[in-house]
Amino acid sequence: MNLILLGPPGAGKGTQAGKIISKYKIPQISTGDILRAAVREGTELGKEAKSYMNAGKLVPDSVVIGIIRDRLKHSDCANGYLLDGFPRTIAQAEELDKILLAMGNKINAVVSVEVPDQEIVNRVSGRRMCKDCGAVYHVTFTPPKTANICDKCGGELYQRDDDKEATIKARLQIYKEQTEPLKKYYNSKNLLKEVEGTGDINKIFNKIESILDNI
Ligand code: ADP
Ligand code: AMP
Repeated sequence: MNLILLGPPGAGKGTQAGKIISKYKIPQISTGDILRAAVREGTELGKEAKSYMNAGKLVPDSVVIGIIRDRLKHSDCANGYLLDGFPRTIAQAEELDKILLAMGNKINAVVSVEVPDQEIVNRVSGRRMCKDCGAVYHVTFTPPKTANICDKCGGELYQRDDDKEATIKARLQIYKEQTEPLKKYYNSKNLLKEVEGTGDINKIFNKIESILDNI
């Protein structure tokens, strides 16, 4: 099963992705995670991406397309994959179509997680991530058992540089201008499945499951 998870920053894509990959046994390919790892490691890619990311801007299409082109060649993608945070522009989606065509591969469904703006701001401003394993928490909605410590690995939690309030607004604006048009793009291909992303995390996953079990 080849999937795309669409939605504004903070919609819960990463949260739901964790559940999807565990049930359907496919790898999660998050361009955000790949870029953050590159920034942490100080690679050339990380140096190029850092200023865009911290300003809440999109990294250039050519950079993320290169990442995806390489990643999809890995053997763990042979039985499917979940793209999380890619594509984010029409140009990325069109390039993805070309890459998949050349690979004899195609997307089976695009799940778009819908969350209102105010909820996005609340979620993103309270998001905390583990610096060691990348697990995601929220200070109020899904807090760790001990403040600032990861339940899973004991690592320290941190707030992403791009999760500060001023940057969130910019990211939301960019989502509306550049990423939301992808819903129309995929709807015209009969791939779009919209899911209401507010409320209980497990109930949202149940809705996603019922969609994916039927494709
Ligand atoms: P995305 O990957 O789309 O940016 P995340 O999965 O990181 O979003 O979720 C953003 C924040 O919202 C995190 O702090 C997460 O714990 C929290 N969150 C995710 N889903 C829900 C939900 N259904 N209700 C409340 N908070 C949620
Ligand atoms: P995310 O973890 O998906 O919220 O992404 C964090 C940041 O990484 C974004 O705000 C962008 O700066 C960058 N990024 C991630 N995926 C992409 C993409 N597909 N296109 C451009 N920039 C991206």
